[in-house]
Amino acid sequence: MSYVLAFLVGLALGSFLNVVITRLPRGEVFWRGRSRCPRCHAPIPWQDNLPLISFIRLKGRCRHCREPISRRYPLVELAGGLLAVALWRRFPGSYLLLVYGPFGAALLTLSAIDLEHWILPDVITVPGAVLGLGLSLVLPHLRFWEAALGAVVGSALFYGVAWVYEKWAGKMGLGGGDIKLIAFIGAFLGIKAVPVVIFYSAAMGAGAGLAQALMTRRLRKGQWRTVALPYGPFLAAAALLYLLAGIEFFPD
Ligand SMILES: [Zn+2]
Repeated sequence: MSYVLAFLVGLALGSFLNVVITRLPRGEVFWRGRSRCPRCHAPIPWQDNLPLISFIRLKGRCRHCREPISRRYPLVELAGGLLAVALWRRFPGSYLLLVYGPFGAALLTLSAIDLEHWILPDVITVPGAVLGLGLSLVLPHLRFWEAALGAVVGSALFYGVAWVYEKWAGKMGLGGGDIKLIAFIGAFLGIKAVPVVIFYSAAMGAGAGLAQALMTRRLRKGQWRTVALPYGPFLAAAALLYLLAGIEFFPD
């Protein structure tokens, strides 16, 4: 029963995150104003705004103008639901849900924005890193020096890699947003998480890049064309895996 409840809470949260994901990159406030269809601007009534259900019932189209609704909406809602279930499973009834719930929600939001716009807004990562450092002062399982080293070493490593890559390849590999995202993750999960997160995110990123290259047949005649994918979602996924798999993180 508690899993069902967690899933429903996660769905509702995902629905809210969709509003943030849509409005934040446009510089709009997300706490005011009704949701509207981006094409016909018809206000969306609550019964057409139910997570997952409305998308299925409307067959993915606006009720008024039949404009297709982005699949990102149901995907983020579903991801929110699944994330809430996984967090509840990892920290059942714990106060840590109040720490890692918002952390997971921020990572989900950042991933979706990075996939759509190739940006990781500072307005989430920078206060997030500061909050992580502050929380390490009160959380029993994470010491301040672990959080601080996580943020500093993570971002220094990425900065170094970005610098070398730019000298070598003459173009940007890692962006400033990725450097701030690893600082945010390092501050929340500590220095021990940083190598693990970097390793798994790089492995997943390389795997996804290869899969995309194969699917779009860019590997013909052995020619490697640059396959571009944003790195933020892979960093976020690796951080969540570390958190949820609990590798050495929380002594049980
Ligand atoms: Zn419409």
